[in-house]
Amino acid sequence: ERPWSPALTWTPRVALRIRPLSDLELEDGATVVAHKAGDQVVVLMDPGEDPEDPLCTHRSREKTFIFDTVFDQQASQEDVYRATTQHLVEGVVSGYSSTMFAYGPSGAGKTHTMLGTDAEPGIYLQTLTHLLRAIEETRDSADCSVSTSYLEIYNEAIRDLLNPSSGFLDLREDARGSIQIAGITEVSTSNAQEIMQLLTKGNRQRTQEPTATNQTSSRSHAVLQTQNRGVRMKEGAHINRSLLALGNCINALSEKGGSRAQYMNFRDSKLTRLLKDALGGNSRTVMIAHVSPASTHFEELRCTLLYAYRAKNI
Ligand code: ADP
Repeated sequence: ERPWSPALTWTPRVALRIRPLSDLELEDGATVVAHKAGDQVVVLMDPGEDPEDPLCTHRSREKTFIFDTVFDQQASQEDVYRATTQHLVEGVVSGYSSTMFAYGPSGAGKTHTMLGTDAEPGIYLQTLTHLLRAIEETRDSADCSVSTSYLEIYNEAIRDLLNPSSGFLDLREDARGSIQIAGITEVSTSNAQEIMQLLTKGNRQRTQEPTATNQTSSRSHAVLQTQNRGVRMKEGAHINRSLLALGNCINALSEKGGSRAQYMNFRDSKLTRLLKDALGGNSRTVMIAHVSPASTHFEELRCTLLYAYRAKNI
């Protein structure tokens, strides 16, 4: 495991999580075309090319992608948390801003990773448990305060998931250039169970739209903020215009040869404005890209790998 670098030289980590084939995919005759081939390597097999072609060697049908960490279906929720977000929590207690977000198409496993189930709780609960314990153990715990906000961005409109009837909210920049959401609910409780109840309830308030892959899929970006004396943690997943804007930011960042750009066009979407500090600022960021390994979702799978792989070059 790599030692953590000081915040100024921190580079975003990009992990990939491959979920198991679903029953529906198996019924459709899907085969697994994305294989973990080492701690950091995933191999994608193109099912479209003719395997009978004697000149088309096995190698030409395969593409290799490298990430900071690759998880397949063997990985537990605990494994994913330990290798990605746990380090961020340690930084938060020392005063670093941290951002963790899940990315990927509908049905690829983002909710499973973030929220999980009662039997297999996800990153929300593990983060909260660890964060609250770490605050208790710190010498200055009396100076720490924890508050939670939960919002969605849907078609460029921001809704408060803890108070959905409050209508659309605006983004404002404060005097220090930090982005704030005007009027967002901030619940100040440091009881993990209570926060989980809020998040589970908030998750049900998300905008639902039927999609081809997942009938109850949510197409919005959910952002959870845990505030610890002005230190923010955010989680989000991305689509449409926001995705494009995020992709453009990521592209521009990687083109600048690894230095954090100052003149990024974060204003292109609400999501990139919200993530401005996370992507361009002095903050620690982890992204977990999610994919289904199904041959029947090959194009989606390939696009997600390409997109996330590009993010890795930030
Ligand atoms: P998303 O939030 O990206 O739309 P979900 O998290 O809802 O996707 O996952 C879609 C389905 O796949 C759900 O039924 C979920 O329980 C299942 N699933 C996702 N990831 C895993 C995993 N790692 N192991 C087992 N089941 C998973």
